Amino acid sequence: DSRLKAISDAIRVVPNFPKPGIMFQDITTLVSNHKIFKDTVDIFVDRYRDMGISVVAGVEARGFIFAPPIALAIGAKFIPLRKPGKLPGEVISEAYELEYGNDCLEMHVGAVKQGERALIIDDLVATGGTLSAAIRLLERVGAEVVECACVIGLPEVKGRRLLDGKPVYVLVESR
Ligand code: IMP
Repeated sequence: DSRLKAISDAIRVVPNFPKPGIMFQDITTLVSNHKIFKDTVDIFVDRYRDMGISVVAGVEARGFIFAPPIALAIGAKFIPLRKPGKLPGEVISEAYELEYGNDCLEMHVGAVKQGERALIIDDLVATGGTLSAAIRLLERVGAEVVECACVIGLPEVKGRRLLDGKPVYVLVESR
């Protein structure tokens, strides 16, 4: 797909952010280009339309940029998976490990019903810990996770394709 090179090239790599040694993959330069942002969303929309997906779950914060336009285009609802303490209603939580310490994702109770077919969206998958927590949240309420999709995957993730038994789809490798 000739669009993928332009998508990859539009991601700015910022060395040593947010701390020394990290090559931060910055998607703000991708979404500020209308054509490249649209191509990115269109690739996901073409893949996920007509798959009976009723819910697109976006992971805070950069998953919130990509999930809503995909949800609108495929005729699904959008739900946010948020960091602790942000959602006002009753929530369920799943903890996951970071390089240093732990974090947690929360989902509103009642946002997704048993048997719904879900797509999970984030900007980037590295260890997969974040997406694993997202999968657990959706499966706890009886949803079926059809796939997890990210714009960027680390090279070692791109070949892996499965996370907790669920398919992971990534558009480009991190540089
Ligand atoms: P994982 O849980 O190790 O797979 O890390 C993925 C999470 O970390 C995602 O929510 C990403 O948004 C975030 N993340 C890690 N590194 C980067 C980066 O270089 N750019 C943007 N997000 C990143």
